[in-house]
Amino acid sequence: HASGVQGKKYTIATDTTFAPFEFRDPATGKLTGIDMDLLRAIAENQGFEVDIQSVGFQAAVTAVDAGQADGVIAGMGITDERKQKFDFSEPYFDSGIQMAISENDDEIQGYEDLEGKTVVAKTGTEGEAVAKELAKEHNFKIKGLDQSATMYESVKNGTAVAVFDDYPVLAYGVEQGNGLKIVTDKVPGSQYGFAVKKGENTELLEAFNAGLKNLRDSGEYDKIVDSYLGGAS
Ligand code: GLN
Repeated sequence: HASGVQGKKYTIATDTTFAPFEFRDPATGKLTGIDMDLLRAIAENQGFEVDIQSVGFQAAVTAVDAGQADGVIAGMGITDERKQKFDFSEPYFDSGIQMAISENDDEIQGYEDLEGKTVVAKTGTEGEAVAKELAKEHNFKIKGLDQSATMYESVKNGTAVAVFDDYPVLAYGVEQGNGLKIVTDKVPGSQYGFAVKKGENTELLEAFNAGLKNLRDSGEYDKIVDSYLGGAS
């Protein structure tokens, strides 16, 4: 146990729908997913409580920066740019970006086919950054949206031809039959971390790391991840 957190309640902000990391269980309406299960298990292991606020990715990051939330867990990539404003936990999941298109689309085979067209990405995310970089060479437009669900809807209804999002999330959605398909390679490299505002909530960050290590050692970490990804990760 890390000592300072015992019995304390922390407000943790997260994304709205980012399955399999955070989403509402269709049957119970309860927030569930890999991030939620890990956070709750770590809190229990370390003796603190969490009040989880599901507000959207950009809003969650902003809330921590503004001191309105103590931490953020939202499939958030650990990047050098973000390290200027946030302190991150040890990485807990390997991720990266990929592009998806409508499953009925036979036209888009690669980035070169995006020329003059519009794609969607989530505002403030690594997916948006990757899209911006590729747009320099391939001349397409990027529309920023706040939620993964809205992005996928835009691609299905033809408002956008493609979406850039994290590949474990896209793969999970495609597997669940969300009407999209993947035609390009992964852009790997990013790892997810729990974040607090730089220089603040140090004891919370230490407790998260201690709890994460305990969950890895006990096999509980693998159990949680496998319960959503079936060992496919
Ligand atoms: N991993 C991406 C990022 O950190 C997206 C996170 C999300 O959409 N919840 O920017």
